[in-house]
Amino acid sequence: MNTKAAMIRVPFHAAAMGEEEVRAVSDVIRSGWLTMGARTFEFERQFAAYVGAPYAIAVSSCTAGLHLCLEAIGIKPGDEVLVPTTTFTATAEVVTYLGARPVLVDIDAQTLNLNVIDAARKITARTRAIIPVHFGGQPCDLAEIRELAEMHKLHVIEDAAHALPASYRGKPIGSISELTAFSFYATKTLSTGEGGMVTTSNEDYARRLQVMRLHGISRDAWKRYSAEGSWHYEVIEAGYKYNLTDMQSALGIVQLSKCDAMNQSRSDIARRYTEAFRSVDALEGPQVLPDRNTSWHLYVLRLRLGALRIDRARFIQELGERGVSASVHFIPLHLQPFYQKTFDYKEGDFPVAEQEYQRCLSLPLYPTMSEEEVEQVIWAVRDVVSSWIK
Ligand SMILES: *Cc1c(COP(=O)(O)O)cnc(C)c1O
Repeated sequence: MNTKAAMIRVPFHAAAMGEEEVRAVSDVIRSGWLTMGARTFEFERQFAAYVGAPYAIAVSSCTAGLHLCLEAIGIKPGDEVLVPTTTFTATAEVVTYLGARPVLVDIDAQTLNLNVIDAARKITARTRAIIPVHFGGQPCDLAEIRELAEMHKLHVIEDAAHALPASYRGKPIGSISELTAFSFYATKTLSTGEGGMVTTSNEDYARRLQVMRLHGISRDAWKRYSAEGSWHYEVIEAGYKYNLTDMQSALGIVQLSKCDAMNQSRSDIARRYTEAFRSVDALEGPQVLPDRNTSWHLYVLRLRLGALRIDRARFIQELGERGVSASVHFIPLHLQPFYQKTFDYKEGDFPVAEQEYQRCLSLPLYPTMSEEEVEQVIWAVRDVVSSWIK
């Protein structure tokens, strides 16, 4: 190893929070109103405007949001829901919350998004919905998905945990399908620590989500907490405790105002990576298709393993020795014990997902990365390749 002078450590992720966020949360604490209230409704209003959706409903996580979406469309025990195997477990676990079955689908080798042809093959008389995941922030082919959904009368719920801001054929993610769920988890492109948002153009779904995220209490019940409200409320369903707090929403409002600038920083760093790795034969950078924009939540590098003397796990270890923390997105769900024991999946079921999983790794990519950190990542990747090339 050609040890780089004054080696710095580059974490896989660091939060992009500043004094403005600190002030916004402090203001909420000083106001005496901590849980869902005016700030949350303001965050919903601004978020809906930002993505061009008629309704936005703030929730405690994307997982909670996806659960509420499936509940709103009426998923029942015995139903089937199509989910890509290359995703975080949240996308599929929510299907099991309602007693339905997640039916896994292989991915497209280029984008790592759900393969629509494989999805079509998995449709049965019990299939009710499809949950496309915009992997790493690059939108799925939503025109193809819509066509498939219309043909088979399926609901489309987008898992947009990675996809803020992103767009498909000029339309922002969040304004396209009947329901879209975003994540504000600590590592996501807009963070409130934990949190999420569902957008929809369907008023009935919006009302249902507003009721179900807070104990099944009828819509205007939050007013009972406000000065002009009353003590009276009505429980109309067995709902959930999935609301967002005003402390989180205050963070979200500040983060939303920086969302475009943060996206610009990410995309600048991604361009630097792509330029630096283009000439390295052992590496394949991500490809963004011309009819869409990615949020650049992840920068996924793929190794041409035939050109190297080490595997992906060793590659990550070697990066670590050069000060760079990398990660892997994702271990396909059909390789996980729960999905194997519950739904009989096994190794070999999804060849594309497995092949890409073997050779992918995610590099650090966040707006607060310094020039030195970006250079350290580029140096480390190139140095590992040159040390282990065949
Ligand atoms: C992070 C993530 C989720 C879950 O988001 P939470 O807000 O943590 O519940 C869902 N789907 C994907 C693809 C994710 O990466």
